[in-house]
Amino acid sequence: MEAWDEEPGDEDLPRFVMDLLGESLLGKLSGGKCKEDVNGLALTVTGQGLKEYRDDRKAWSAAARWITGDRPPQETEMRALLLKVIALSWELFRAAKSASGTLSFDDMISRALQVVTAESSLPGRFLHVIVDEFQDTNALQDDLLSALVPEGGGSLFLVGDLQQSIYRFRHAEPAIFLKRVMEAFQSDPDSLVNLDVTFRSRQAVMDAVNSLFGRVWREGVTKALESGFSRLAPPESRDWWPKRQETTVKPFEIVIPAGEAPPAKPRVSEIRLSAMRLLADRIVEAVDSGATVWDTDGEGSFAPRPARFRDFAVLVPSRTFYDQIEQVFIDERGIPTYFEGNRNYFGRGEVRDAVRLLEALADPGDPLAMASFLASPLSGLAPGVSARLIARSRSDGSDLPSLLAQEHPLEASRFERLRREGLAAGPSRPLATLLEDDSALLSCEGWKRPRVAANLRRAIDLAREYEAGLGMSLGGCADYLRDMTRRGIETREADTLGEDDDMVRVMTVHAAKGLEFPVVAVTGLELAPRTRKQGVRLVVSPHLGIAATALPEGWVEVGEREVLAGAIHDLFENRETWEENQRLLYVACTRARDSLILCGASPRTEEGELRSKRHSWLETVLDWAGSDGSGPPEPEPPTEGAARRGKAAPATKGERVDLPPEEGGTLERISATAYALLKFCPFAFRMRHRQGLDISWEMPSDDVGGADLGSLAHWLLRRWDLRPETLSLYDPLRDGAGLGELLPADLRPVWADPAKRVPLMGWLERFASSPLAERIRNGEDTRKEVPFRVRLDNGALMVGVIDVIWREGEKTCIRDYKIGRIENAPRELYRSQLLFYALAARKHFGGSPLELALLSLKENREIPVGKDPFSWEDLEEDVASATRQGAAGPFEPSRKMCPLCPWKGECVLGREWTKGAL
Ligand code: SF4
Repeated sequence: MEAWDEEPGDEDLPRFVMDLLGESLLGKLSGGKCKEDVNGLALTVTGQGLKEYRDDRKAWSAAARWITGDRPPQETEMRALLLKVIALSWELFRAAKSASGTLSFDDMISRALQVVTAESSLPGRFLHVIVDEFQDTNALQDDLLSALVPEGGGSLFLVGDLQQSIYRFRHAEPAIFLKRVMEAFQSDPDSLVNLDVTFRSRQAVMDAVNSLFGRVWREGVTKALESGFSRLAPPESRDWWPKRQETTVKPFEIVIPAGEAPPAKPRVSEIRLSAMRLLADRIVEAVDSGATVWDTDGEGSFAPRPARFRDFAVLVPSRTFYDQIEQVFIDERGIPTYFEGNRNYFGRGEVRDAVRLLEALADPGDPLAMASFLASPLSGLAPGVSARLIARSRSDGSDLPSLLAQEHPLEASRFERLRREGLAAGPSRPLATLLEDDSALLSCEGWKRPRVAANLRRAIDLAREYEAGLGMSLGGCADYLRDMTRRGIETREADTLGEDDDMVRVMTVHAAKGLEFPVVAVTGLELAPRTRKQGVRLVVSPHLGIAATALPEGWVEVGEREVLAGAIHDLFENRETWEENQRLLYVACTRARDSLILCGASPRTEEGELRSKRHSWLETVLDWAGSDGSGPPEPEPPTEGAARRGKAAPATKGERVDLPPEEGGTLERISATAYALLKFCPFAFRMRHRQGLDISWEMPSDDVGGADLGSLAHWLLRRWDLRPETLSLYDPLRDGAGLGELLPADLRPVWADPAKRVPLMGWLERFASSPLAERIRNGEDTRKEVPFRVRLDNGALMVGVIDVIWREGEKTCIRDYKIGRIENAPRELYRSQLLFYALAARKHFGGSPLELALLSLKENREIPVGKDPFSWEDLEEDVASATRQGAAGPFEPSRKMCPLCPWKGECVLGREWTKGAL
């Protein structure tokens, strides 16, 4: 054995362990012998158990193998193929964005950067630039800041906290923050101001946070860069500070139920439910005992007051915890609870029950539909009663409607009445009846009723939409609603939380950033962050672009499919993911004002000790809790379901039900195209603007056009002086044009496509020779692509962009360029659009004469505003009414427009019309 006179350094540790243990002893390990002894020895020597030691180095040794070893040629081939695929996908993604006129957040920043870089007047134009939350800045955003505030070009005021940097998913980089800090320090040490005093938390909470993170970050907040932990400091000099400490809610607690020790193997989900039960009990206990929190007395002074449910926030690492919290808090304990970000509307029980009701009403002979309805609260039967009914029907074969009539005539006649209503008046009618007679609401607990009522009201709206567009079929409407559920349409349920509602708030840590609550419970400590999901074969990697973890079947012999890219990805990601996870815990803990509860679920080791996953918050917390010699917190026994709270017991029949207010309001602003679409067909407006559907304009098959060609035409028309002889100068592809640099990248493929470029240049050439082009050239004060925002006296805000505007003496002339054939488009659509421009122009230019028209480039002709008489007052009121209708509906289909509609292919009614069914 080598002589080890001094303590081995990090790099020598592997050799030291090998020396210490010897090959033969290590060999025995594989057979499981001496495992505990060796593990203990490794722990003493390296500070890590063998498995951890091995895991830590696995990725490094994989990286070494990748770099130095002979990798099979298939691996290189696959990597090249994947890189091509991802490059191609990226181009397609860009083209799709361009075609749909969509910009991602990153696009907006990079476009802004392009502008700032291209326009020499912009850099340095701002004397002071202030950025908040700078720790969440990514490299692109930082480049924009650098371009906006060049050296010596103004002052940059940055506010941030590295310890709260939690946006790696959008490429926020601690290194960027620290680089700025270093630059500021080197240029002027006084320019750095440390804001460590917090007015938020009580001293005991602050002490716990300082102690926990003082240990976590004893070697710095990020390992790769030097930056120490910045402790929170109290505002001791304030005269209210001593009184602030008098609140009586328990300031800090760790709640960790443990499962039974092996051989019993409780699932983590079961232990987690126990954790939620313990937490729910803590909350109820604090409220019932009158424990106090610090709050204003309503007149600006702060004082302790008894805690209410609304003072509690339960923070979760992800929304996957919502179901378990709902089960315990709502179903078992009856605690009023609000889930931030809400649940998916179509996933809600009452919405599914409404669908089941419609199915049963449509066909009572369908045993599955009828049984599902009877088992739902909407049937009016207690759960045990409906279960017996269904069981009897299955055993003796009798049909459910007859059984219901025999044994529960009241419920049967109610069902029959709903069915008759549905058949006569359409599917929305029975749902409305349920809501009107309170029968659906009284079957659920009092505090749930506002939510159930709001969700049922929305179901009635959807059923009415179906009736308006598709007809009265009960089964068809049930299919329509079920189809939305199946397609996973992400519709958030109706929001029912008011400022003063006394409900526990549940939200993700990311959603809680920037907020604070008297009591914060951080749950899910046991979860460990993952660099990639298990079983995933392809990883999108910020380091490798894309990486596969296995070769495709058939490329190599069975058993030789492993590639190392996944391990390399992990190598780069592991530490950063872990470090960010710790910062996420810090953000969660620092939301607390009076009390912090750390809550997790832990299985036990064979020795009965708590067990935590590597790099989980639980590991961090247990490590800290045991660091002062006190050992980890005593595990708590799982609790049984407690009795429901009296407050939440179902209300008696006839109790008043508070319903949430009706939705209403107006659109914040309305554009010419939105207004025209709403006037043309509210149903089409709903598809485009409420559902966000990408409805596309159907063009005749021989027609050249599309959104991308329109964008290119507008780009050229904005820059070109409309003279025939200068048009060729705007060809970005000609030698030495230099304009290629300016032509946005997403328009270059359109330009490069001769099938689009050649006709477009032909249309423009013809236009340049027209009398209209001459008028525009000779007009006074000609301006192009002029954005407008015009507020009407009735409050509506009109927005849009005018393609070209000029003056001829007293007259103001406006044109809107169209790329498609006007003859193929419905006149009504364009007339509304032009009237909208006319109103905006009149408001802006006063009563001067106006001349407005559409210009079809393809047809080289104009369409002026129609001669039909209209009054400006009526038009103003019509625009205001459109902002109301656009926000709240109704969105009924304009059936008479279906034959002319350019979006027929995207619309159920349009397709019916095409098939000849309407
Ligand atoms: S096809 Fe008819 S209902 Fe559908 S969007 Fe067009 S006009 Fe409206």
